[in-house]
Amino acid sequence: MKDSFGRKIDYMRISITERCNLRCRYCMPEGICLVPMEEILTFEEIAEVCQTAAGLGIRRFKVTGGEPLVRLGCAKLVGMIKKIPDVEQVTLTTNGILLEEHLDELMENGLDAVNISLDTLDRKIYKQITGFDKLSAVRAGICRAVEKGIPVKINSVLQKGINEAEWASLAGLAKEMPIDIRFIEMMPIGFGKKQEGIAGDEVLLKLKEKYSGIKKDMSVHGNGPAVYYHVPGFLGSIGFISAVHGQFCRACNRIRLTAKGELKPCLCYESCVDVKKVLRSPEYRESGKRKEGLRNAVSQAVGIKPEKHCFESEENITEGRQMVQIGG
Ligand code: SAM
Ligand code: SF4
Repeated sequence: MKDSFGRKIDYMRISITERCNLRCRYCMPEGICLVPMEEILTFEEIAEVCQTAAGLGIRRFKVTGGEPLVRLGCAKLVGMIKKIPDVEQVTLTTNGILLEEHLDELMENGLDAVNISLDTLDRKIYKQITGFDKLSAVRAGICRAVEKGIPVKINSVLQKGINEAEWASLAGLAKEMPIDIRFIEMMPIGFGKKQEGIAGDEVLLKLKEKYSGIKKDMSVHGNGPAVYYHVPGFLGSIGFISAVHGQFCRACNRIRLTAKGELKPCLCYESCVDVKKVLRSPEYRESGKRKEGLRNAVSQAVGIKPEKHCFESEENITEGRQMVQIGG
């Protein structure tokens, strides 16, 4: 379906939990209040929203969180969404810690690809960023995914004075393995406001100095607005999601479903459509208007999608929640 700026909206990110087994300094350094499970959408409710969205042309879904693999039965949900008619793709974004353990079940349930968040290959810096000494578990998850042949992307956020020099070793992963490394600019959402990020262009310049043969890679790599480059001899590519400095919004194709059941058209603004109300209120169930109510909720979320974010003028950002609550 098209939004009011003519963009095709065919992708939904679904947060299935606000919990996480890490405490990344730009996402949830202090932890957040635990939300009672009854406030979180059940898998059946999530699947119903996906079914409605698929009927409206949203055919690709990403399961995220919080950390999606800390919610029991995440693989089962992947299978439930994958079985919905017209669904083309179900992928997962994870910090990778529990990936090795869950990968077989995820793939048996039809998972199409996995994005793993990793900001450094240095054990000490990893602990500094995430609060935990878990780098080896993440690396084991990456290796297992590559071995099993599922498409893998690594998402890295660079922070000034913390891991800014890590671009080189992270990019090196794409030399050794058939995986894409994407550098995502720090967004001024939640604790991200307090961290100084590194512009994608700055990293690209360094890559060009190091690898003179680097070239723009025009092939389609996924669902997002990343711009890719390829270095001759590398097995994977290097991408940039320049959320703050790039022309990001013109290519935006997504809406989000939060764990608490709000449809969110843009990361930057608090406005959202309460789909949980439609799912849970007897009014819709008893009147037989549930399906219509769900369709209206999805259409409304697409309809109120703003033209662009305002990350460059923080005073206009109305989203006050943390990324972990929104589903990054
Ligand atoms: N826990 C999973 C993970 O880390 O991949 C999924 C949820 S996490 C919120 C999704 C992505 O959001 C991660 O790649 C993380 O680095 C990114 N993220 C969190 N806060 C951010 C911020 N302020 N700016 C840019 N990216 C952010
Ligand atoms: Fe957890 Fe992912 Fe946020 Fe890190 S970025 S705290 S792993 S939700």
